[in-house]
Amino acid sequence: MKSHARAVVIGGGVVGASVLYHLTKAGWKDVLLIERAELTSGSTWHAAGGMHTVNGDPNVAKLQQYTIKLYQEIERISGQSCGVHITGGIMLAGTRERLDWLKMAKARGRYLGMELELISVDEAARLFPLMDKKHFAGAMYDPIEGHVDPYGVTHAYAKSAQIGGAEIVRQTRVTDLKARPDGTWDVITTSGNVHAEHVVNAAGLWAREVGRMVGLELPVLAMEHQYLITGDMPELVGRQEQMHCIDFEGEIYLRQERGGMLMGTYERAGVPWSETETPWDFGQDLLPNDLERIAPSLEIGFEHFPSLGEAGIKKVVNGPFTFAPDGNPLIGPVRGLKNYWVACGVMAGFSQGGGVGLSLAQWMVDGDPGADVWAMDVARYGDWTTLKYTNAKVRENYSRRFSIRFPNEELTAARPLRTTPIYEKLAAQHAVFGDYCGLEHPLWFAPTAAEALDHVSFRRSNSHPHVGAECAAVQQAAGLLEISNYGKFEIRGPGAAEWLSRIMANRVPAVGRIALTPMLNERGKLIGDFTICRVAAEHFFLIGTYAAEVYYLRWFERHLPPSGVTVRPCAMEYVGLSVAGPNSRALLQTLVREDLSTAAFPFLSFRRMDVGMVPAYVGRVSFTGELGYEMWITTDYQRALYDLLVAAGREFGLQCFGGRALNAMRIEKSFGTWAREYRPIYGPFEAGLGRFVDLKKDDFIGRSAALEEQAGGDKLKLMTFVIDTTDADALGDEPILHEGRAVGWVTSGAYGHRVRQSLALGYVPKELAGADAGFEIEIIGERHRAIPQTGAPLDPAGRLMRQ
Ligand SMILES: Cc1cc2nc3c(=O)[nH]c(=O)nc-3n(C[C@H](O)[C@H](O)[C@H](O)COP(=O)(O)OP(=O)(O)OC[C@H]3O[C@@H](n4cnc5c(N)ncnc54)[C@H](O)[C@@H]3O)c2cc1C
Repeated sequence: MKSHARAVVIGGGVVGASVLYHLTKAGWKDVLLIERAELTSGSTWHAAGGMHTVNGDPNVAKLQQYTIKLYQEIERISGQSCGVHITGGIMLAGTRERLDWLKMAKARGRYLGMELELISVDEAARLFPLMDKKHFAGAMYDPIEGHVDPYGVTHAYAKSAQIGGAEIVRQTRVTDLKARPDGTWDVITTSGNVHAEHVVNAAGLWAREVGRMVGLELPVLAMEHQYLITGDMPELVGRQEQMHCIDFEGEIYLRQERGGMLMGTYERAGVPWSETETPWDFGQDLLPNDLERIAPSLEIGFEHFPSLGEAGIKKVVNGPFTFAPDGNPLIGPVRGLKNYWVACGVMAGFSQGGGVGLSLAQWMVDGDPGADVWAMDVARYGDWTTLKYTNAKVRENYSRRFSIRFPNEELTAARPLRTTPIYEKLAAQHAVFGDYCGLEHPLWFAPTAAEALDHVSFRRSNSHPHVGAECAAVQQAAGLLEISNYGKFEIRGPGAAEWLSRIMANRVPAVGRIALTPMLNERGKLIGDFTICRVAAEHFFLIGTYAAEVYYLRWFERHLPPSGVTVRPCAMEYVGLSVAGPNSRALLQTLVREDLSTAAFPFLSFRRMDVGMVPAYVGRVSFTGELGYEMWITTDYQRALYDLLVAAGREFGLQCFGGRALNAMRIEKSFGTWAREYRPIYGPFEAGLGRFVDLKKDDFIGRSAALEEQAGGDKLKLMTFVIDTTDADALGDEPILHEGRAVGWVTSGAYGHRVRQSLALGYVPKELAGADAGFEIEIIGERHRAIPQTGAPLDPAGRLMRQ
């Protein structure tokens, strides 16, 4: 084994092998993979090898498309067969909701170029004759589905990497990792040590242990997973290989395996494996079968596919594989650890392994993953993902693998975990809570306790009229919103202003003022949007998306100078309340000594004030489009401030409102938000944030790319549409069609109660931005006329919030 390498990849499963191959492809030849036993010795060897392109996140779906196309390439380079069988697949729907879900999945696939097709039950039975038609209502056909040989794929990656210059060492375990002061690593192994510039944790079932070597508790957990193979079936003799099939309501997947069928299930009562530690001596072992546990699914399977029941069970496989709480991989550099990368939690290695390897390798070599990998970024999780939290969420996710997730459905596992001091007070107002980063926050308020429950639906649901009433209160009088679920940072020091000016695209505000600003990467793409509040010359309060806190910190810390600036995350030290609406000023004026008139405290002002007895930072900003104020207080004061505002608000018509109303109101104002309108695939001018990019500043990260974008380098434009629809609104990811052709996608949608219109925000090619007709948006399988707007549907000049 060599004693030095540019990168050491720990783990020779399908993921580690893919990372190794992609590193060589990206130009790093001096790379080494260390495998504890033989290649595929973790979860890879007993996988069913199924692959598909459909994924809830379009960006992950793109990487799955890439993975499937890659097999030809690695077969050609390595000469090793991947055993690719593209059989095509059908997804069976047993209910109307599932059919709606399939229609939406098909629509999402439209702008990704997927050829998904909705078919009748008869057509499905022609393609997959083993099914009993009476249990189904319809189906979707995907020509690009099939399976591979897990051994073949892993070895094809490995050989291709070796041909590209990589070295692979087997029967060697990494036992420890020691960081050197310069950020390089000593990789301690059972066969000697290696000095590496970079290390990659691709340790699959042992990813937690390799994380713990550096003090990291990764949110991954392995679940036992069982599939069985039937005896040979006369129905399959002399026929073309059967398609892949998913029976959603039966929670079963099927494919042909030689003369029989392979049937797997994600049972409701899933069982985690090795909840706290993975034994190092677990090799190419299988776990004991537990057919009783999957008996309910088997019963349904044999009812829905009767000939399987007659074929008998030839073999049962029970093996563990890992999941992150949301089921998506964990990839990227880890905040606070230089040159330590992860590629783990990959639950669909044969659909996602290629995309994971490509993104990680590009990130390591070029400093950027080259694609929008937010849905897979390890930085999407923070401190709340403890071992037990992960356990609860992974079990829930596993049990719901084939369940529909409705847009207004809040999952229940691991809740309530984090609450703010006014949680009980809001609950007493019949708040319906959502979970955001493990934190409870109010979504809407029901009139009675009995009604405080979401009826899940793809269409307008029971909360619709109540959200409408909340918006009306904000429009006509005043609304009170809890805004604790934001990320907050305190930035201090003599170099703070200069540093912020370099890291953010907009100008740094004067003391007592607020600036809204995008943050760009070197390629000039959006990697954040913030509110910068200047408390004093050397003291700033920064507000951004909470879910991206670790993601932001990773970037901030990478760009911090050695001295002169400190960045302190303080998300839960400060919680917040906001009042919005025409009466909000008069209300707040009864509680503060300062003059709140526009002349004295104009839009985008920020000041430390006493609100009653409560010391608060008060900012005049608005995400609703109405006159409004945000108050940030340390957590101990929140109850007092809430009581004060509620009492003072009585004579001003103050009503609580929640996140759903806020979302609808920000869309009425065409205001974007992180992870929907603002993502690293868009530039600020495309996203309509050009006015917040100060190109007069000499220097800031992404400036030259932003200049190019401004000079015509933009390709897309964020548009607002009014949709001609009656009972279902756009949610996000629906295709936008122009003259019948899919040209773009929706990023957010909601019913705008104040303008009484169904609205959507979405990107289209900039050439089409001027077109005033011919647009349609597809919602649950139906195309609706979409009328592009030239400005925000509500108060486009922004008079209300500035008055
Ligand atoms: C029953 C079953 C069916 C499945 N079916 C499918 C399917 O149909 N389609 C699909 O896409 N996926 C399927 N999967 C999931 C698939 O197996 C995983 O997505 C994939 O194997 C993950 O690969 P990995 O490389 O991340 O992890 P692993 O395969 O666990 O690889 C990790 C490797 O790292 C090595 N290692 C760990 N620690 C060290 C160390 N300290 N030093 C050196 N080496 C180390 C291990 O020995 C191991 O070889 C299935 C899994 C199971 C169990």
